[in-house]
Amino acid sequence: MTDLVILNGRVITFDGSDAQALAVTGGIITAVGTNTEIRMIAGSARVIDAQGSTVLPGFIDSHVHLFAGSAELDYLNLTGVGGADALAAAVRPYAASRPDDTVVFAASIDYGAIDNSPVTRHDLDAALPDRPFAAMAADHHTVWANTMALVLAGLLHGKEVPEGSEVVMAPDGLAHGELREPGAFGPVLALTALAGRDLCGFITGKDPVPPASPNERILDKSIIAKGMKHCASHGITGLHNMDGNFYQLELLDDMAAEGTLLCRTEIPMHLKHTDPMDRLSEAAEMQAKYNSDMLWSGCVKMFMDGVVDTRTAYMLEPYPGTDTCSDPLFPPDQFYEACQQADAMGLRIAVHAIGDAAVRQTLDGYEHARQINGARDSRHRIEHIETIHPDDIPRLASMGVVASMQPLHSPRGGFFLPAYEPGEILHAFQIEHAFAWKTIRDSGAAMIFSTDWPIVPVDVMSTIAGAVSGAKLPDIWPDQRQGLRETLASYTRDNAWAEFNEHRKGRLRAGMMADIVVMDHDLDAMRPDQLGTARAAVTICGGRITFEA
Ligand SMILES: [Zn+2]
Repeated sequence: MTDLVILNGRVITFDGSDAQALAVTGGIITAVGTNTEIRMIAGSARVIDAQGSTVLPGFIDSHVHLFAGSAELDYLNLTGVGGADALAAAVRPYAASRPDDTVVFAASIDYGAIDNSPVTRHDLDAALPDRPFAAMAADHHTVWANTMALVLAGLLHGKEVPEGSEVVMAPDGLAHGELREPGAFGPVLALTALAGRDLCGFITGKDPVPPASPNERILDKSIIAKGMKHCASHGITGLHNMDGNFYQLELLDDMAAEGTLLCRTEIPMHLKHTDPMDRLSEAAEMQAKYNSDMLWSGCVKMFMDGVVDTRTAYMLEPYPGTDTCSDPLFPPDQFYEACQQADAMGLRIAVHAIGDAAVRQTLDGYEHARQINGARDSRHRIEHIETIHPDDIPRLASMGVVASMQPLHSPRGGFFLPAYEPGEILHAFQIEHAFAWKTIRDSGAAMIFSTDWPIVPVDVMSTIAGAVSGAKLPDIWPDQRQGLRETLASYTRDNAWAEFNEHRKGRLRAGMMADIVVMDHDLDAMRPDQLGTARAAVTICGGRITFEA
């Protein structure tokens, strides 16, 4: 008995040749072939007519922050809002629509939102003087707060904060409004509706303190369920969350039982440089406890550095006009030890590394683990790789390290503009190897694509358009554009491979999980610069329809 058939598709199988149709039974693909072949076994199955559009394996976004992304769907989004008038025009109606929020909270404010100079509390006061108001940068490393928010959070007169964080002070002796890193902006997050529970996995890797009440758990699950629906509407059937704690695993496990977990999700254990090494045992505990097809653990996430905008990415050469390269978050020996232990436990490792020195130290850590533990098919990953020294490029392929990149983070992707001038944040010689998707792919390294939602929207097709077409940049930025099929593979087949699930998903063939997306266009026939307008028409996860336009 066939449950469901898809006919009249341009089916990209990633398993030999393309097909027209496929059949699904019990959550598994049972046949892939021509319309005639599939009609013969359709029986009384539900029929989806793809109308000549692309059908492909469900998208897997291999780097997201699910809870934060879900929460931010509700926040005011300030992407592209520049200038005092535009900021006021955006925030006032939003604030009026949220009379009960203790702090009016916005996401994705640009570092140069006000006349390209540092945002101050006075700028935010001008936009919204009579209520506490704070806005977070898209990269989640900085929050700006107005005077009322600073007073309420106890930060107006400054505050002793952990190393690496800073309540920036103005010459008048009061807080400037810029709060760098979670140690400084944590007190503001605590005033939002979710009290910062959405960011615990990202900031500490630990559970919320105090623990969430039963009602707060219900609220949090409803927020994440909305996020899941949003992901499914973009054709996504799988997510690799990149922040983790037991709390999120518990919520998602409940959601799986309640039927609201619409995307298969991996949650890592997040090891901070401030943690004792024996916290790694939590990763083993997570893996033992959560290992279903819908929700699993088995990966350790670490941060090696910050981001280039705040010059906290760890570089081999000092930043232009400065004598600082920034510093790695993990001292080398501690990092090597963490890699060796996690690798010996059979876990995968994913490390955020943006600066070329951070990428090198991460590769050194993986190499150290191989030397001590022996080489294995480990599929350890490096997240972002915004810059890389040319000498390190061949090391990715030779050690089997997976390059996990986000096309929309690059100026090439056309989302964050303009591109930096050489010598502004990056030197000209660094720009030659910045966001080098094509160079890295051509080197033979495995390349997987994702968004890092909510850093950029979880919208799959804008990322694909950014990789395939993208923005026209000054010549100093090398052309890194990707072919459509290899880009789609990096978003489906290769993301399944990165989680050791290549035998079960990421391709459309009999016996594979029925994780499928039917698009509303034939992607191969579209102009590259139009790809961003294509949408998912039907999303199917495990044979269940999770979205229908
Ligand atoms: Zn991330």
